Amino acid sequence: MRSKATLGLTAIIALAIGLYAGFLYGKENRIRTHEALNAVLWMQTSEEYKMSAVQAFRLAEVMVERALADPDWTAIPEQKNARDLQKTAVILDLDETVLDNSRFQGQIVLDNGQFEYSKLLQWEKTGRPTLIPDALHFIRRLQELNIDVFYITNRSYANRDATIELLKGLGLPVDADGANLLSRDTPPTKGSDKHSRREIVMKMHRVLLQVGDNLADFVSGGIIGKNATLESRAKTAEAHRNFWGTKWIIVSNPIYGSWEHVLYGFNNRWTREQKLKAKYTFVKGDKSP
Ligand SMILES: [Mg+2]
Repeated sequence: MRSKATLGLTAIIALAIGLYAGFLYGKENRIRTHEALNAVLWMQTSEEYKMSAVQAFRLAEVMVERALADPDWTAIPEQKNARDLQKTAVILDLDETVLDNSRFQGQIVLDNGQFEYSKLLQWEKTGRPTLIPDALHFIRRLQELNIDVFYITNRSYANRDATIELLKGLGLPVDADGANLLSRDTPPTKGSDKHSRREIVMKMHRVLLQVGDNLADFVSGGIIGKNATLESRAKTAEAHRNFWGTKWIIVSNPIYGSWEHVLYGFNNRWTREQKLKAKYTFVKGDKSP
């Protein structure tokens, strides 16, 4: 028969093992989530998101009629020849402005992964985006009003044919020669900055509105790249305060954009851990200094 001391020791050891196992179990089962979970769900399930898009395109429709009636109206601050031009145009971004790619983002959440450019290029070829609520309705209205539609997108030029097919399949107007689709690197332009592509449009058209989900869809300077900061973005956005909601209509994109890249200094090749660490430094809580 074991002594009371041995029984006591056994009980203590068993308790210790139990506590340690519980500690390990707790560690493994800590709530695991993804930084884009809520944003993806907001886009995919909420009426609030859907109606924010409806609201944006309704405002765009009101403003475009106002713009048509005013020959000096232009949505491009540098456009000086507005009054001389007969043709009018509206410039739209594509991704998360006209096209809903939230399934691409949702897969990243489900895989507990991170953005990879090679996967995006594949998505451009074979992905099946849907339409942002009321985007098509707005574009059809532009056609009724005889306003030309231009898409200035950072989808790749190499996947241009796939993008044209996608747009046509969704009922979106594309010129026979695809001239109204200005992808990234459309000759002779280079790079993701949209300024040179805006210039192509404004040569022949008075630009009535710009519609996008990213500051860089509207204006250049201080928004993208290694020199961009929260302050430089704020300065550029504020300098154009009169354009927002009148000539520039923003569609909500809670998942990604230059607003996020700037938080890790556009070090887009950083690991997810590095990016997360940088992002946490920007969160302000009640106890933050
Ligand atoms: Mg976009």
